[in-house]
Amino acid sequence: MAKVYYEKDVTANALEGKKIAVVGYGSQGHAHAQNLRDNGNDVIIGIREGSSANRARNDGFEVYSVADASKLADVVMVLLPDEIQKDTYANEIAPNLEAGNALAFAHGFNIHFQNIKPAAELDVFMVAPKGPGHLVRREFTKGSAVPSLFAVYQDATGNARDLALSWANGIGSTRVGVIETDFREETESDLFGEQAVLMGGTTHLIQAGFETLVEAGYQPEIAYFEVMHELKLIVDLMYEGGMDHMRKSCSNTAEFGDYVSGTRLITPDVKGRMKDILNDIQDGSFAKRFTDDYDNGFKEFYAMREKEQGHQIEQVGAKLRDMMPFVKENAVDTNN
Ligand code: NDP
Ligand code: MG
Ligand code: MG
Repeated sequence: MAKVYYEKDVTANALEGKKIAVVGYGSQGHAHAQNLRDNGNDVIIGIREGSSANRARNDGFEVYSVADASKLADVVMVLLPDEIQKDTYANEIAPNLEAGNALAFAHGFNIHFQNIKPAAELDVFMVAPKGPGHLVRREFTKGSAVPSLFAVYQDATGNARDLALSWANGIGSTRVGVIETDFREETESDLFGEQAVLMGGTTHLIQAGFETLVEAGYQPEIAYFEVMHELKLIVDLMYEGGMDHMRKSCSNTAEFGDYVSGTRLITPDVKGRMKDILNDIQDGSFAKRFTDDYDNGFKEFYAMREKEQGHQIEQVGAKLRDMMPFVKENAVDTNN
């Protein structure tokens, strides 16, 4: 079992007396910055002018350009979209860092795939919350937290690991536990999870199930309830108590069908294709495809988005969700 670190394991705040720049004020940025500030740290924001900059000012932060914030700070956390980090780092951050400064990330993508090659005299660490920023902030204000992973890529000062743990402590994650990893493990497993299971696997499983029912003549509304709406209940049960707990809460008919048909659907060849996906992540070809597409104006990305956006399940779902105001009660603010 991995060692889990808690508040008691962080005996001193390595961020004390240091100026922290959070670069980017989106999902992760607003949460890291506010949680760290609430825990008494000295935080400024580096961001271009626009809606995020205004939000940061409204939240009471001093806002600077990315270059100026990087110059002023001892610790720079890069919370920009992954695809723009390479250019922003080269043009605005790197020229403003000094030996002994620390550079930090919430995802290892650009360091691991060497889009960013930090100077040897910098500390480089990561604190990656296992949840979106709105949850990182909301749980913190409730007195709880979202767990995080932390990792050190480069330790120039001998302080990098303490800084990472203090950061995880500052955003609250040590209240519930943080686990040490390395940039490779975090990056590759994160990409695999979102591609094979959490997003790619799940969205396409749902669509295939929906199409199977509709093509067989069942009403799209019924299909939506059976393959998408009810998924939340199942996931909530697994999240609370694991698969056995979920199965106990469902009927014996449902549990019997789970065993009979799950194994028929997710056959060893599916796992074989999962390994192919993992290989493309490990050998860098996924990262290259993403980064090259960004350099090419995201042509492939936008074409895929366009193609997948109009699926019938989305039109049916929008109508049905309007009938069920309660589903939006705890809606995620995707602008966060
Ligand atoms: P968001 O897209 O939510 O936020 C990006 C921020 O960067 C916004 O404040 C945006 O400001 C700003 N920005 C965009 N382009 C530029 C630019 N050219 N110059 C300056 N600022 C710019 O990103 P996330 O918070 O989702 O992701 C940040 C990092 O956190 C990524 O590395 C991601 O992998 C990681 N992460 C994300 C998680 C999540 O669930 N979201 C979970 C764990 C890690 P503006 O309003 O001006 O566009
Ligand atoms: Mg990810
Ligand atoms: Mg049913």
